[in-house]
Amino acid sequence: MKDTLPVVSNEKKSCGRCQANGGCCKELQDPQSPKHESSILNAPEQVLPTLRRDGSRNWLSPSLAKGFYWQRRRWLAYGLIAFFVTLPHLRLNGKPYVLIDIASRQFTFLGYTFYPTDTPLVACLALMAFFSIMLVTALAGRVWCGWACPQTVYLEFLFRPIDRFFDGTLGKGGKSRSQLGGIRSVAKFLAYLGCSLFLAHTFLSYFVGTDRLAQWMQSSPTQHPVAFLVMGGATIGLLFNFMYFREQFCMIACPYGRFQSVMLDRKSVIVTYDIQRGEPRKRGKRDNQLTLDTLGVKTGDCIECGRCTAVCPTGIDIRDGLQLECIHCTQCIDACDDIMVKIGKPTGLIRYSSQDAMAGVPSKWIRARTLIYPTIIGIAFLLFLFVLSYKFAFDARVVRMPGAPFTVFQDQHVQNNFRIRLVNRSQTDQQYSIKTKDEAVVARWSNEAPLTLKPGESVLVPVDVQFPLQVTKGSGLYDTRIEIADTAGAARDIQVRLLGPQ
Ligand code: SF4
Ligand code: SF4
Repeated sequence: MKDTLPVVSNEKKSCGRCQANGGCCKELQDPQSPKHESSILNAPEQVLPTLRRDGSRNWLSPSLAKGFYWQRRRWLAYGLIAFFVTLPHLRLNGKPYVLIDIASRQFTFLGYTFYPTDTPLVACLALMAFFSIMLVTALAGRVWCGWACPQTVYLEFLFRPIDRFFDGTLGKGGKSRSQLGGIRSVAKFLAYLGCSLFLAHTFLSYFVGTDRLAQWMQSSPTQHPVAFLVMGGATIGLLFNFMYFREQFCMIACPYGRFQSVMLDRKSVIVTYDIQRGEPRKRGKRDNQLTLDTLGVKTGDCIECGRCTAVCPTGIDIRDGLQLECIHCTQCIDACDDIMVKIGKPTGLIRYSSQDAMAGVPSKWIRARTLIYPTIIGIAFLLFLFVLSYKFAFDARVVRMPGAPFTVFQDQHVQNNFRIRLVNRSQTDQQYSIKTKDEAVVARWSNEAPLTLKPGESVLVPVDVQFPLQVTKGSGLYDTRIEIADTAGAARDIQVRLLGPQ
């Protein structure tokens, strides 16, 4: 699948993947093989690197290029894994840094808890996150995918090392999947299962908190069946993803990968092959002197070694131009730099650059989208601060009870019934009082016990408002204010409209 912004359109050559994944081309070209390309079941062309033309899975076993970028990616990946595992255990003001409590409909971020009434705040945060991704992509391409995405981090730095540990490296005495022996397969599966279980528990702790998770782990699954099923489902999902689906997640399932063509432009920094320098390719060139072939025709620096395709975790050839499958993991840069050093050429035949820079057009960091995105992020941030400054120690919203709008009593009093949605946003228990400022009107909570809420607790309080019949004389309407106050001194005045007989 090519992106809508191809840089290079080379004639398709030997992809080199057969070196890494067990000879798919050979099988397709063998007339005796059921996978022969003349078969009516074969697709006219290969649509995915992980799918052969006969529809069978093409398992990729990329080799590893331990170059400049890989070293840095590795340390970043281990740091991110440690961060992901540690974060649910950290506390700020007694609250977790991140807790997505779906059951209570609360979201805690950096020690601050958002409630269902905080939709504008959460919308501002979501806007900031969305346009930050757009900005980073416009500037640095899929740097997120290659360096920090959990799929890449766990697949390349946890699960593929497990593969290499048990299978070895193909071409260096390693075995393909089908050649793995029984005990080795079971041991490898157990390693996958252990990692998936650990990741699933860590993932669950973001939703239920580490304390509750520890309790659950020490008790029987029958006491918390839903959580147990969620954890089991997450483990199976992770196993499926990392054992079977793998790199296909980036090509088929990830929406970010599919949106990249609208987020990138010709000035975005991407991993790209220098076609001016590399073409025409000449196999087997060894030093600086051999820049002319035997017919005296100038040749490029690419020696067709196939190393850049052999290391690609998504099985593509970067020399075919910018492609949807490319996650900008920089493995082909490391692999090609290594080859360039060996043949005495400058490194950087494959490098970070932009399509414009490759075409000789000066690169510009400042352009319309790199100005518009930060402006939107700034506005969303200011809006976030503005809304936050209007947040009180508690939320209160008054709504009228359904049913009859008022009741007239024999003693010439009228009663309106309301409900107040009250949320304690403070860090301590609070007791609340509800009254009206208008002496003619009495508001009382129908339950006489003190109204006390724990931090984060939300209740619906039935409130009766009583007033003399003459208050609504004439129009049948009367506006008054209900005051709600907590023991810490925070108070809110809320206007309500009373209804009575005209
Ligand atoms: S690694 Fe470099 S030299 Fe080798 S095929 Fe790829 S681009 Fe050409
Ligand atoms: S083409 Fe290069 S940067 Fe892109 S996914 Fe393959 S190895 Fe990584």
